[in-house]
Amino acid sequence: MEDKKESETVYRRMAEKQFWVDPTLAVFAHSVESGVRDYEADARKRYFFPAIWITWDPKLGIRTPPQGRALELRRISVKHWQEATLAAHKAGVPMILGTDCGANNNYVFPGWSVHEELEELVKAGLTPAEALRMATVNAARWRGESDTQGTVDRGKVADLLILRSNPLEAIRHTQEIDAVFKGGKRYARTDLDGMLHQVEEKVAAPLFFDIISGQTRMSFLWMTIITLAILQTSVFLTTIYLHRAKTHRGLEIHPALGLLMHIELSLFTGIVPREWVAVHRKHHQFSDEDGDPHSPYQHGMWTVLFANFWFYREAKSDARMVAKYTPDWKEDWLDKVPHMHAAVLGGLGIFIWMFGYLWGAAAWLAHVVGYILLNSTINSVCHMVGYRNWDNKATNLQWVALLTGGEGLHNNHHEFPTSARFSWKRFEVDPAWPVIRLLESLRLAKVKKLPAAKAA
Ligand SMILES: [Zn+2]
Ligand SMILES: [Zn+2]
Repeated sequence: MEDKKESETVYRRMAEKQFWVDPTLAVFAHSVESGVRDYEADARKRYFFPAIWITWDPKLGIRTPPQGRALELRRISVKHWQEATLAAHKAGVPMILGTDCGANNNYVFPGWSVHEELEELVKAGLTPAEALRMATVNAARWRGESDTQGTVDRGKVADLLILRSNPLEAIRHTQEIDAVFKGGKRYARTDLDGMLHQVEEKVAAPLFFDIISGQTRMSFLWMTIITLAILQTSVFLTTIYLHRAKTHRGLEIHPALGLLMHIELSLFTGIVPREWVAVHRKHHQFSDEDGDPHSPYQHGMWTVLFANFWFYREAKSDARMVAKYTPDWKEDWLDKVPHMHAAVLGGLGIFIWMFGYLWGAAAWLAHVVGYILLNSTINSVCHMVGYRNWDNKATNLQWVALLTGGEGLHNNHHEFPTSARFSWKRFEVDPAWPVIRLLESLRLAKVKKLPAAKAA
């Protein structure tokens, strides 16, 4: 203190007025240490959910630990705070032990912080007994519970800590706990160790989502399975909702389900349905002739396979074309939302929420690339390679059909565009068809009359 006399006057008045103080020295000590000490090696880490732990990590930058001059100043202020605590205590200011432990105070460990605070108080110049009194006698006094708490006496609550060594000799002995009496029960050291172990196990247990940190505890296998499941969902919704229902009206989907499908596609593919429908209808009108937005006969199979994304982008950017090919468009409420392309960032957010920043971004990218490639395979390979049931330029490829919810039976589709079913031969498998039938049986979809097969 700059002016010792003045501060002593203040302390005396605080003592007179019974102005309680809770110095929380350990928080200040940790705020200095967080930039200096490597807490990653701290054995107590295993008792913490990563969601909390990661917010304490100085590398994350949520709380930048002081460096250089700021660190020096912090050290000086910690010293001043210690001196002030001692001076106030000597002046008779009533004090209570508290730690400000919580998720927002870095490395102030719940459970341990009380012991650390005791140590800090002794470091500041209090005797171990004085420090202990702050945590017991004074705590009870401040709460107005001196009749039942704070000291060991007949008629008082018998919550006790049994120590193996005398804390009056060294305050760190409070951590050598032999047993705890709480609520009339005795917990031996082995019980306490068992409880700690339980906490440790809970922390280590696999949890899918760790919302706060965005970190995952998921295995690589699970992340792969979930990513592929989302990819297949996008693929099925593309063929059922965008293609068979919206573009060719081979079936009608219940508006509520349709909206859900629209939401999924917006989040994970960024596709605006009306644009997709227009581009695809144009493709059918000009199949492999001038005007086809993505014909492998005009641009080459490999070009369409790898550049379909850009062919699509160019085609859909023509608003007049989009309007021309979708005069029958019935808007749902998502269609009315501007800049829906940006919803794809919501999908990125969902992946990050599930898998963490790095794996989430990687899985999202894998989903985007996988989705684009599966679609472009139909537009390129399935117009050139494979067998034909019917006399049109598109081809059937069963293995592509298995990966794309049936879209690989593209020769069939070009022959009967309004058919909600893509398989025509007995050996052909259209994975989306049983799903459509299921939706129909649940009254969530209505399939239009299938066209009669022409001679194969
Ligand atoms: Zn086609
Ligand atoms: Zn089509």
